[in-house]
Amino acid sequence: MDYDLIIIGSGSAGLPAGMYASRYKIKNLVIGAQPGGALATSHKVENYPWILSASGKEIMDQFKEHAEVSGSETLQDTVNDIQKIDGWFTIKTTNKNLTTRFVILATGNTYRKLWVPGEAEFLWKGTSYCATCDGMFFKDRDVVLAGGGNTALTEALYLSEICNKVYIVHRRDTFRAEDIWVEQAKKKDNIEFVLNEEVKKVGWSMFLEEVTLKSGRVLKADGFFVAIWSDPSTKLVEHLSPEMDDEGCLIVDKRQESSIRWLYAAGDVTTNSNKFKQTIMSAAEGCLAADSIHEDILRG
Ligand SMILES: Cc1cc2nc3c(=O)[nH]c(=O)nc-3n(C[C@H](O)[C@H](O)[C@H](O)COP(=O)(O)OP(=O)(O)OC[C@H]3O[C@@H](n4cnc5c(N)ncnc54)[C@H](O)[C@@H]3O)c2cc1C
Repeated sequence: MDYDLIIIGSGSAGLPAGMYASRYKIKNLVIGAQPGGALATSHKVENYPWILSASGKEIMDQFKEHAEVSGSETLQDTVNDIQKIDGWFTIKTTNKNLTTRFVILATGNTYRKLWVPGEAEFLWKGTSYCATCDGMFFKDRDVVLAGGGNTALTEALYLSEICNKVYIVHRRDTFRAEDIWVEQAKKKDNIEFVLNEEVKKVGWSMFLEEVTLKSGRVLKADGFFVAIWSDPSTKLVEHLSPEMDDEGCLIVDKRQESSIRWLYAAGDVTTNSNKFKQTIMSAAEGCLAADSIHEDILRG
């Protein structure tokens, strides 16, 4: 066996999992295709305790260093296959074949894009996929939010407390979101529903300035939030048939173990932390997974 534990994902959940595992003297490897994961792509983070303001990359470089100093090996590589044979896991990356007793899946999730012109160009400079993360950067400004599910409506309510005006653009006149969120949004003076509409393009000069709709209507705005859906990255383990919820998140117990013995999971890919997709929650889940594995090892 090459490792006691292989952690797939080198983001907010995977690196703290490695750090804790190392402190328990569990021989571990953290494999990640994108160093630092999702947070490393953020230009500014202001909601992680002890760090008033830093770029996501700065924070994740520290996460990596902390894991390595504690004893984790790290590898930038893509995992293409996992098999469970005779109780052990075999992990096939682009460059290596590895075996391990325990796995922590910390592969995160992908925010769905609208793929309209301007959306990508103004990523993190006007376009955002996370109101909790970026809402404060649009304090007292006008923003457009696209979506009609629970995430969209709750994010719109949150933004309405911070921003001057929030336009909710939704392509139908009914919502997937629970009625309670829709009713609350309707009561807000600074939320305007723009229904049976779709975003056509995002326009700017130096900064994001306007969002043009398919009807031709132009909404003046400084921020553009896309809250349509996110896809948990579970593809690697689907053939093992672990239990998942209806949004595709891996169901884990309170120890972070999935329904597959010794396959643990942490972070945005799981159902835990009330699916509050934030670095602090992912880090905590990663640490808990490592602690649970330590418990399994002690039990023999
Ligand atoms: C732009 C942006 C800004 C954000 N801002 C904030 C913020 O201000 N505050 C906050 O708390 N949260 C913020 N978030 C949310 C936060 O980044 C996530 O909740 C957190 O990163 C989730 O951690 P994770 O470890 O579950 O997944 P990720 O950090 O996404 O890590 C997933 C890891 O898995 C790897 N991976 C996936 N598949 C494979 C594979 N097959 N082989 C190898 N590696 C694989 C990826 O390469 C990556 O390393 C932001 C997210 C984004 C996108």
